[in-house]
Amino acid sequence: MAVKPQIQRMIFLVWLIIVPAGMWFTYKAYPPDFSGQWLELLAFLLLTAIVASMPIVINEISIFLIQWVSLAAFLKFGIFAEMMFAQIAVIVLLLRIRVPKSEFFRFPLNLNMFFFVSFLSGNIYYLLGGEPSPSLVSNPKTLWLAVIYGVVSYLFNQIFISYHLYFVYKSKEPYFGKDFIVETITTLITLPLGLMLYMFYNQVGFVAVLIVGIPFISLSIIFNLYYSSQKVNEYLQKAAEIGHQMAERLQVNDVIDLFIQKLSEMLPVDYAYILEVVNEDELQLVRRIESGEVLTNVMPKVKKSEGISGFAWSKEKAYMYSSRKGWERFTVGYLPKDAESILSVPIVRSKKVIGVLLLLSKRKHAYEKSQLMIVDILCSYFAVAMENAKHYELTKMHSERCALTNLYNYRYFENVLTEEFNKLFQFERKQLSLIILDIDHFKAVNDTYGHQSGNEILVELGSRLTKLVGNLGTVARYGGEEFVVLLPDVNKGEAFNMAELIRESIANWPFLLKQSLDQLQQQVIITASIGVATAPEDAEDALALIRHADRALYVGAKRAGRNRVAEYSSC
Ligand code: GH3
Ligand code: MG
Ligand code: MG
Repeated sequence: MAVKPQIQRMIFLVWLIIVPAGMWFTYKAYPPDFSGQWLELLAFLLLTAIVASMPIVINEISIFLIQWVSLAAFLKFGIFAEMMFAQIAVIVLLLRIRVPKSEFFRFPLNLNMFFFVSFLSGNIYYLLGGEPSPSLVSNPKTLWLAVIYGVVSYLFNQIFISYHLYFVYKSKEPYFGKDFIVETITTLITLPLGLMLYMFYNQVGFVAVLIVGIPFISLSIIFNLYYSSQKVNEYLQKAAEIGHQMAERLQVNDVIDLFIQKLSEMLPVDYAYILEVVNEDELQLVRRIESGEVLTNVMPKVKKSEGISGFAWSKEKAYMYSSRKGWERFTVGYLPKDAESILSVPIVRSKKVIGVLLLLSKRKHAYEKSQLMIVDILCSYFAVAMENAKHYELTKMHSERCALTNLYNYRYFENVLTEEFNKLFQFERKQLSLIILDIDHFKAVNDTYGHQSGNEILVELGSRLTKLVGNLGTVARYGGEEFVVLLPDVNKGEAFNMAELIRESIANWPFLLKQSLDQLQQQVIITASIGVATAPEDAEDALALIRHADRALYVGAKRAGRNRVAEYSSC
């Protein structure tokens, strides 16, 4: 939930204009008399600080049950003291949950809110005839007024929270959800506690703080344990879901993207790096994401047991660091200057580390132990998904490409040709040109230099073709010593020029043989004959386009003396 800087500045401004003046006004309007009560004030202050430092965190929203102490403090010391306590409680709470620098506006935001709540509910209490330090036992009316004070301040609190969520955080989630219910129930339970504390305090003094405070603090601890275990359950469920989603992805890059995306949604992640084990003892960066952007690799390879990721690899264990101090000493490679917290998790498949995941946050103490465990589980899902995707990509490549030249094979070419013709029929393409190339007297080359050398020439020719054509079209090995180039949206003249360029790049540059029969490096000059045809002018379907380009090759180029380009003509 990012909050715009203008809004943040406005929040600071509102605090500056309203809160100090409002406090001064309250002080003047309801002058407190603390004489002889300084020790008692201190005891309440202490209790306030302790309760504020034990917030219950639900869905990243800290609920702090300070209302009951506030209620007792209000009844005992009046509106001004309660106001001060509430302000102190906010500061303690925000310090406790370690609000990062970038979210410092939350201090004035909450101070404003608590000021208004204290001010409004206190004034309402006095307006209704409530008096300072009422004796709740002797007069039932005073008890009702105290209850009204508690309920009113709770309501104001909720109104301000929903206002913040809507206008400051622009949250779209329904406000009256589970959190609201939990908070209402806990407040209803704690309000009588506040009344009890006040009444008790009047009777027995300081001991009341202990008698009411200790069970309450124990309750807070139990609450927190309950919610953290619920959170872990939620995380586990999410992890299983992400695991399934990753397993459905067939491409390695898609798996990595999804993995990083989901991790960033679950955890505070400013930087993410995935490193892969290469050559048995080195880690190589395969994905670098900084502030949501995929960047190019600048990290040198990391050796096993070197640096943070190397350490996680050699120990085969996940590590968590809460601040820079914890890891700075043994980092070797590149890591961003403002990174603080780190999760470093080995990616393990079949008991073997195949990579390391590094997650970094600019915040100190950004990660928790439970999150480390979840990331560890996610990494094993990731390892399986990666293996499947790699396997799929390899199988796909084998089925699409020629093993010798690594060019696309005839099967793949036929599919592309059909697709391109469909586009032509649907007027997504204007034209489609096809170049067919056949090496001249290749049998003789084989006979002279050997079959292996013939293969070398085919490989070299394949790479020359790929470089020349680039992303203008698709190069494929049609069979034997024949190659095709499919050029979408290239007219016949342009295709002819391209064919001519290809012919020259073959005829004018000798092919180097590394493994010739007599072991000497040899240069071989070869030539090729080329046919060109273009749809729709020369052919109305895929087969006709091939047939006509082939005809141009044999009739126009081979028969006319080879080492030339011919284009199809119907006459
Ligand atoms: P031209 O096309 O000029 O008429 O003569 P050519 O000798 O190239 O013609 P032909 O089609 O008769 O021979 C093609 C030769 O290409 C036959 C075969 O030995 C060779 N050849 C086909 N595939 C391969 C291959 O994968 N590796 C090697 N080394 N040679 C191959
Ligand atoms: Mg041939
Ligand atoms: Mg030939």
